[in-house]
Amino acid sequence: MKKLALHWQILIGIAAGIIFGLFAAKMGWAIFVKDWIKPFGTIFINLLKMIAVPLIVTSLVKGVADLKDINKLGKMGGRTFGIFILTTAIAICIGLVIVNIVQPGNFIQEETRSEMMEKFAGNAADKIKAAESAKNSGPLQPLVDIVPDNLFKAATENTNMLQVIFFVVLFGIGLILIPAAQAKPVVDFFGGANEVIMKLIDIIMLFAPIGVFALLSSLIVELPSPDLLLALLGYAGCVVLGLALLIFGIYPFLVKTFAKRGYSFFMKGIAPAQLLAFSTSSSAATLPVSMERAMEHLGVDEEVASFVLPIGATVNMDGTALYQGVAAVFIAQAFGMQLDLGAQLGIILTATLASIGSAAVPGAGMVMLVIVLAQAGIPEAGLALIFAVDRPLDMCRTVANVTSDLTVTTIIAKNLDKLGEPKVKNLW
Ligand code: ASP
Repeated sequence: MKKLALHWQILIGIAAGIIFGLFAAKMGWAIFVKDWIKPFGTIFINLLKMIAVPLIVTSLVKGVADLKDINKLGKMGGRTFGIFILTTAIAICIGLVIVNIVQPGNFIQEETRSEMMEKFAGNAADKIKAAESAKNSGPLQPLVDIVPDNLFKAATENTNMLQVIFFVVLFGIGLILIPAAQAKPVVDFFGGANEVIMKLIDIIMLFAPIGVFALLSSLIVELPSPDLLLALLGYAGCVVLGLALLIFGIYPFLVKTFAKRGYSFFMKGIAPAQLLAFSTSSSAATLPVSMERAMEHLGVDEEVASFVLPIGATVNMDGTALYQGVAAVFIAQAFGMQLDLGAQLGIILTATLASIGSAAVPGAGMVMLVIVLAQAGIPEAGLALIFAVDRPLDMCRTVANVTSDLTVTTIIAKNLDKLGEPKVKNLW
């Protein structure tokens, strides 16, 4: 019998998880789901996170060393950051246009507003506190944060991915600079280790349908009441519409135009990574699968994929930026504030920076939203208004984040003549 393609398996896991979650919520099985089902989801995410650092290290060392030329690295780095910033700015503009046309903040009844402000005040305060250190740091702090004072400490915290990348790129440059005969055994070692890690990702992905089933069903039983979700439909609709335009329109269009790869080739190639982004709400947890899909299913050379994707997962968050723009304007509208053009241009700038600063983990975009609100003079307590729908939106924006990373990777690869035929043909 023909084996079902991976994205179908994951999709079935997602659907079954949602149905079971709804049923369990109705039957009052929340504790059972938390004790007996959720742990499998956590195990799955842990497996993905466990493999992320070894994957980045082995593939990036090999990738940089294979470039054989430091200028090439500079060229790739410059283009990568340029396109990252550009796609992020486009994303926020789309979000702002939609939210200004629809004006979802005006749908919120006074009564609903007070109810939510009361109900989620505590959660909002937690996020505001979490943003405190980012708010108080100097302008060059993000740069300082890239350089680790202790490599092993950086490698043990999944949130310090950029520090690991910094060291590994330096190590790769060192390999280029020493005589080839001495570099060879080191490069060969990392090359072999990388093959092992890629194999492990295949094995971990066998567990994906069960993992996403557990993640989704436990999420559903923990979701706030449907009435609150309904009140926020206008706002959530704006975010989802913007993200859908990006995911199904802008990105495939960019890939078609600049990388000469068709819609279905691209979408089929990356579908499992998108579904995983949706189920885990974390670009970092999705990274191993994004890398595998780029290399084996899109035909991107390892040198490009191993450089662009880990950096993209950490700094390129178009979906998050779009959401931050929409959320800021929505909260302002709900409080009866009118934001003029200058204020909205300010939001484009701060949301770009805030999305770069957001960690690639669930809920991080909301923490950095505090900074966007503060800059625009919008009450931070307004976070309470959007709390109820944040998780589902986080799932959707993570899909946009991951799709954007894969788009930029494909374009850069084409641009540097590193886009070949995929090793694996995509099933549908
Ligand atoms: N969860 C998102 C990600 O990992 C970040 C966010 O909260 O927007 O890409």
